[in-house]
Amino acid sequence: MKIADKNTSAYSLVSDALEKAEKYKDYNIFISLDKEGALQKAKIIDEKIKNKEKVGRLAGVPFAIKDNFLSPAGNTTAASKILEPLKSPITATSVKKLEDEGAIVIGRTNLDSFAHGSSTENSYFGPTLNAHDKTRVSGGSSGGSAVAVALDIVPFATGTDTGGSIRQPASFNGVYGFKPTYGTISRYGVVAMASSTDCIGFFAKNPEDIDLLMSITSGQDPKDMTTLPDYYNKDGRENAAVAGAASEPHDDAISESHNATSESLPTAGPHTIGIINDFDTDSLDSDIRAALDSQIDALQKAGHKIVRLDMPTLKYALAVYYIVVPAEIASNLSRHDGIRYGYRSKDARTLDEVYGKSRSEGFMPENKRRIMIGNFVLSSGFYDAYYLKAEQARTLIIKEYEKAFSKCDFILTPVSPNPAFKLGEKTSDPVAMYLEDVMSVPLNLAGLPGLAIPVAKNKDGLSIGLQLVGPRRSDKALLEFAKSIKKEGE
Ligand code: GLN
Repeated sequence: MKIADKNTSAYSLVSDALEKAEKYKDYNIFISLDKEGALQKAKIIDEKIKNKEKVGRLAGVPFAIKDNFLSPAGNTTAASKILEPLKSPITATSVKKLEDEGAIVIGRTNLDSFAHGSSTENSYFGPTLNAHDKTRVSGGSSGGSAVAVALDIVPFATGTDTGGSIRQPASFNGVYGFKPTYGTISRYGVVAMASSTDCIGFFAKNPEDIDLLMSITSGQDPKDMTTLPDYYNKDGRENAAVAGAASEPHDDAISESHNATSESLPTAGPHTIGIINDFDTDSLDSDIRAALDSQIDALQKAGHKIVRLDMPTLKYALAVYYIVVPAEIASNLSRHDGIRYGYRSKDARTLDEVYGKSRSEGFMPENKRRIMIGNFVLSSGFYDAYYLKAEQARTLIIKEYEKAFSKCDFILTPVSPNPAFKLGEKTSDPVAMYLEDVMSVPLNLAGLPGLAIPVAKNKDGLSIGLQLVGPRRSDKALLEFAKSIKKEGE
């Protein structure tokens, strides 16, 4: 395992990471660092190693968490004013599982407030700058986590992906970013955005590390009723996975199936790879098109088969997403009332003013825009015309993917139509910003896994990423395939 191989002490790994975080301060990657806590934890791990006590698979490995993961270390702000004062008594299940394996959180990374955005410019704490060009955006919403990995501050970082927030910043900064099948990793203890599409995932430098992180964090959690039994499954498809593991306690299921299945996965290929004709439009950047074409060539040379897919329903995905997701946002954000937790306006004199002023001062403009759209599409008289129609169209999108996966094993697409854009370029035009997500949101609507793979740089040194998509529950097979592509390219 790439992360755990290092022959060094936990203390030096963690202090190196903290030093680098300081060195790159001007990128605005972290909202807060937990220097003392992290060094303290490192000392304890070194002590255990010295005493020959058992340590976990990630012993002493520093990592960063997007600042919408709850834990008692530091405040969980979700890059908002309304949650800035929030100290959480609980730890997100995913963070706890990583910590139980000895990994050490060094800090909390910047994001678009409540994960609403595609550039990390909607943060109450200012934008995070792109790892390759400081005049450009880091992507979003998990921009801070992507840049923390791209600049080698930490070997991995957590993210959330509701419509592209892991894959797009991964692609903008030249790292791997994985959004698993919906329900694979518990969302307990993560600030909710849109409950029917939110996923936890990771940024790392290679698919091997992501595979290990998935094996540690996936599995059923009684605190998140949407979680699925395990991540490793025999043929990489849904039915085998669910049938095999449902009755097992999940820890055993993971370790047993991990060992048992590595040979039986369809990793050796050759595979059939689908390319979506409908994504090849005039607005696709020419370097991205060239990168896709050269990857197609490489795959064919390695013996894989390419099929072209017509998926006309995907053009509705963005419209569907920006109805369904704001509807869920409006519901999820209604709990922030200035009473229960977080910021409360100082000059509110009545209860209504407490609600109104706390929310109006505490949310960013993009948060408010979505709350308004969401309440509009859910309101009586408009519900049938917008929300219900959108959910019906969503079903058609799911069916279109099912049809596509009857013809191929995986689908390869760009992550976004363009590389990282300039800071400020799209902030005054929400629709231009939403169009960033045109190739990433369809997966979230269908619950599919997607991996952003860094494949090239353009003449300006900006990263170009491609996205590998698989059927539901094909996560393990998809990562194995990504490992083989990487080896073929080496
Ligand atoms: N950019 C998308 C949006 O603004 C996705 C955000 C996300 O995945 N959290 O909704």
